Amino acid sequence: MSSSGAEPSIFSRIIDRQIPATIVAETDRLIAFEDIAPKAPVHVVITTKDPQYRNVVELAAGDPALLADLVGLARQIAAERTNGQFRLVFNTGEAAGQTVFHVHAHVLGSPTASETLGEDSLGAL
Ligand code: AMP
Repeated sequence: MSSSGAEPSIFSRIIDRQIPATIVAETDRLIAFEDIAPKAPVHVVITTKDPQYRNVVELAAGDPALLADLVGLARQIAAERTNGQFRLVFNTGEAAGQTVFHVHAHVLGSPTASETLGEDSLGAL
């Protein structure tokens, strides 16, 4: 149980190493892992270790420095894994496709310069 009394999110269980994930980066406050159902050749999820923020709007209001750190980590992951150009998506609300209510960003990209991201990587998120 988390302090709020809610069940831990699937991402908290990844952070606690209760379920496996392919972790690609980690800091004291953030963790990044490969999405289990990738929508692009590179699809990495970055989430906060603190589960208190349900979405990016709450994170921006509550801890803008952590949001800036998250964006910086996205840039770093994209520099390592993509052609340097990437899409950064925060689904916000169920109707927008959010399924895990523990703030996270999707980093979507292609490893080569010749590949472009199709609209599929937006629509199915
Ligand atoms: P969203 O729909 O924006 O809330 O994003 C949640 C994302 O988490 C989806 O893209 C899922 O594929 C991904 N996901 C769910 N469970 C896991 C898991 N165990 N390991 C990695 N990614 C996951």
